[in-house]
Amino acid sequence: MGQRIVYMDHAATTFTKPEVLTEMLPYFTERFGNPSSVYSLARESKQVVEAARGRVAKALGARPEECYFTAGGSESDNWALKGVAFANRKKGNHIITSKIEHHAVIHPCQWLEKQGFEVTYLPVDQFGLVNPADLESAIRKDTILVSVMYANNEIGTIEPVSELGAIAHEHKVLFHTDAVQAVGNVPIDVQGQNIDLLSLSAHKFYGPKGAGALYIRRGTRIDSLIHGGGQEQKKRAGTENLAGIVGLGKAIELATSDIEGHNRKIQSMRDRLIRGILAIPHSRLNGHPEKRLPGNVNISIEFIEGESMLLSLDGFGVCGSTGSACTSGSLEPSHVLLAIGLSHEIAHGSLRLTLGDANREEDVDFVLQVLPGVVERLRTMSPLYADFKRKGG
Ligand SMILES: *Cc1c(COP(=O)(O)O)cnc(C)c1O
Repeated sequence: MGQRIVYMDHAATTFTKPEVLTEMLPYFTERFGNPSSVYSLARESKQVVEAARGRVAKALGARPEECYFTAGGSESDNWALKGVAFANRKKGNHIITSKIEHHAVIHPCQWLEKQGFEVTYLPVDQFGLVNPADLESAIRKDTILVSVMYANNEIGTIEPVSELGAIAHEHKVLFHTDAVQAVGNVPIDVQGQNIDLLSLSAHKFYGPKGAGALYIRRGTRIDSLIHGGGQEQKKRAGTENLAGIVGLGKAIELATSDIEGHNRKIQSMRDRLIRGILAIPHSRLNGHPEKRLPGNVNISIEFIEGESMLLSLDGFGVCGSTGSACTSGSLEPSHVLLAIGLSHEIAHGSLRLTLGDANREEDVDFVLQVLPGVVERLRTMSPLYADFKRKGG
């Protein structure tokens, strides 16, 4: 019999719910028509794309014609940043973002800097919160866009987006938010929350990979990222990912139908997991204690490497993630953990476990049962720990 898998990496991706897959399947086979064609097979495709658009709009408090399908969160972020930057160049070339954005925002910003744009990266406090006063003072006459994520993928901190959006709007600056981690966890209302552009991705809320959307408020000046055919109101070329779009529509409807009930369940597992792990000596919670995604646990455990912890946990069938990126060939710890003020050493020993619909209370029990032993074993091999002990710790 295969080992039981305890999946605690929902921030990286989620499984596709069976009811989502069931709705998608016919659009690979008998209902495969190209929405741009004229026969009835194609008209049906067109209709399901529009139905899915309606579901996305409803989940965001938007109009359907303000929602554009993309190939995922990274494309939506790239489109929002580059599209707004180039379309508003006459007005100014200054963009404001934060130091803790996903790389799908940070790297386009760095690329835009090479194209002559100026980018301000706002700092965050020890919990990962952007201070609205910092945004206020960073805005200049030539600022064209503010982009601050709704919720952080590593430490789970939920940013004060409505407040940040309001400040941007007072200065007639556009406000974009990467809400990839927020959809399904936090109620979203683009009108009430002063959002002009919003990125989302289906595989983070139990939909398929490679399907996302960008909300663009009506009247927003934005260039295309992908040029070609006239799909998506001539703004995003390419034959629609029909099954992916159907899956996205179904997944967002399910994910936003009972956010409160869903969160209650996940959050109680999260809190038990946090309490249990913090019982390990020399450990600390990263991120905000309350303004936090319901499934996010991010804890630094001193004197050991996150990578070794993950490998040991993997031996027990537990899937998690870390803020130290040795696997990617760099020893640089996560930019997010450094931005909240952790030392390199402590950032390297961070463990992220993200809970979701794949988890049950037994999973929490299991992790709490095996993790202390893993930490103890790694610490006995750790020169840092030996040093600490020798100094009388
Ligand atoms: C996963 C993620 C992305 C990238 O989305 P993809 O669909 O994988 O391209 C962007 N931003 C955040 C905050 C994410 O968590």
